[in-house]
Amino acid sequence: MQFLWNDDTRAAISLTFDDGMASHLDTAIPLLEKYGLRGTFYITARGEDGGQQALTRFRPAFEAGHEIGNHSIHHWCSCAGAMDAQQRGLEYRTLDEVEAELRAADERFKAVFPEVERWSFCYPCYNTFVGKGLNRRSYVPIVAKFFFAARAGGEMSNLINSPYHADVHCLSSWKCERRSAAELIGLVEQTATQGGWSIFTFHGFGEGHLPVAQPDFEALLVHLDAVRDRIQTAPLVKVAEYLHSKRPEK
Ligand SMILES: [Zn+2]
Repeated sequence: MQFLWNDDTRAAISLTFDDGMASHLDTAIPLLEKYGLRGTFYITARGEDGGQQALTRFRPAFEAGHEIGNHSIHHWCSCAGAMDAQQRGLEYRTLDEVEAELRAADERFKAVFPEVERWSFCYPCYNTFVGKGLNRRSYVPIVAKFFFAARAGGEMSNLINSPYHADVHCLSSWKCERRSAAELIGLVEQTATQGGWSIFTFHGFGEGHLPVAQPDFEALLVHLDAVRDRIQTAPLVKVAEYLHSKRPEK
């Protein structure tokens, strides 16, 4: 099999963390740094202060080499599963509204992190569309206008991104909530066997929604540290930059 990755590395892993949660600061970041690894933190720039506080508290992580990524302002999701008749979600939004949201979000992030040259985006709830039926439209092209790369969810049959063909503005990712260390490490090794790029999506550690147990997460990091000569772990935008250098397009 042919591999695109650098030197002897056979695969890439990106660890991504959504929603700017307290356990990212208290648990995930110290553990990543203990093993010399860096992650990607997708934050929503909410708040009456224009997201200043939400973003600024991740500034030390950015300075330590982690990636800060854009997770919009209002975190709009599909309401396809909402049993409340009044609920409004992406089914009722337009591409123009999404574009205005992303433009405003982009400005908020750049105000706090003016030195960042290339931004990645994370689709709230993994949803990449607006509208319904005949009027349903992908908003991936709008994301591609504003951002260098973007993470979505993925079809169950295709969660490892091909370094040759994956759309860097609609990358697949593994939902990692409640997975054991053995499962997480199994996904890493499956990625290495295929020569692909797996993106892991985490939320809380022992807190909040969609948690992963801290010992399972740490066991994953121990493994990634031990296999770094053959599997590269890097922030999402770094892997996207590498792919871009190997397959210039657009
Ligand atoms: Zn989110």
